[in-house]
Amino acid sequence: MAVIAVTTETHPDETRVALTPDAARKLIAAGSRVVVQSGAGDRASYPDTDFQAAGAEIAPDSATAVAGADVLLKVREPEDAEIAALKPGTIVIGLFNPYQDEELVDALAAGNTTAFAMEFVPRITRAQVMDVLSSQANLAGYRAVIEAAGVYSRAFPMMMTAAGTVAAAKVFVMGAGVAGLQAIATARRLGAVVTATDVRPAAKEQVESLGAKFVAVEDDEFRAAETAAGYAKEMSPEYRAKQAALVADHIRKQDIVITTALIPGRPAPKLVSAEAVASMKPGSVLVDLAVEQGGNVEGVRRGEIAVVGGVKIIGFANMPGRIAADSSALYARNVSAFLGLILDKDGAVAPNLDDEILKASLITRAGQVVHPALADPSDTV
Ligand code: NAD
Repeated sequence: MAVIAVTTETHPDETRVALTPDAARKLIAAGSRVVVQSGAGDRASYPDTDFQAAGAEIAPDSATAVAGADVLLKVREPEDAEIAALKPGTIVIGLFNPYQDEELVDALAAGNTTAFAMEFVPRITRAQVMDVLSSQANLAGYRAVIEAAGVYSRAFPMMMTAAGTVAAAKVFVMGAGVAGLQAIATARRLGAVVTATDVRPAAKEQVESLGAKFVAVEDDEFRAAETAAGYAKEMSPEYRAKQAALVADHIRKQDIVITTALIPGRPAPKLVSAEAVASMKPGSVLVDLAVEQGGNVEGVRRGEIAVVGGVKIIGFANMPGRIAADSSALYARNVSAFLGLILDKDGAVAPNLDDEILKASLITRAGQVVHPALADPSDTV
């Protein structure tokens, strides 16, 4: 019987918890023991009493929770003391930001853990149910629009009233991946007039199918700008200049800009210059979802709302953490599905490391960093 530990997240921005009472109940029914550090779910609205009702054991602190654990479930990095308290070979699963956080990867290796980074789960059909990046990006896209609406001093929908007409907000979404598409859908539901851009040609149809207008430089480079894995490529300086000119003119006329553009393993592309921000009307709002990878908007400040010439730039880190109950629930379901590859039918730890999904996401084992992309940082997925 596997012992699965869940501890409180210690990353300063983190409000999520890796397992919910509901997910714990299912693991226990399938033959595991679940030990949760007291208070681990508090910030995501999952109190200890709900975990207990689900059959989980509550440990007073993280050292007690992980003592004897076969698997440690995290949202983000375990603390050094937590790694030190694990028995050798313990499986650790979480979002470890492995391209950027070399120190953590080394610590997980030095701690003799068998660590899996959920970022590296391949986007194949069988792994869709484990796709943490999608589940969290989807909620981040939704929340970005809600945050923008919260500080925007006007309405989103057009309203015709006896006292006059309120104009619909114009929303521009930059980057139409999972987060961007949900931002488009949410802004549309609120009644905004929505446009969007992306460098991947496949995005055009998806944007249009949500009722938004697609805005991009559609040249030969654009038509070839997608990797086999469906991700964006880094664009040439020439393309970036053309795209910047097109979007700068567009941004000037927008009320809300939501940026979500990312390139795996690279700093976020700079898409909105200080001049473009200055060209917007006072009261306009930008939300930069890429702030943790360096940001898409010039002048964004991590964790803050920067006000530049009357324009607000929202730079909240960890947007999924601002909707922590739902993001934890989806994360827990993703991770529980992933555990299905690690636990056998009696609930014992028996990972098949030849499985394509486990192989792609395994980062450390037996004291070594084993993921090929981490051995050579230029080699991205
Ligand atoms: P992401 O978070 O890596 O990037 C967000 C978006 O930014 C992407 O659409 C990207 O093309 C865009 N972008 C990058 N540079 C840009 C620039 N200079 N200007 C404008 N936009 C730029 O992407 P994601 O949300 O993880 O999705 C990437 C792709 O993977 C999408 O096609 C998505 O539908 C696909 N996907 C597939 C699966 C699956 O098959 N299981 C699951 C999830 C996502």
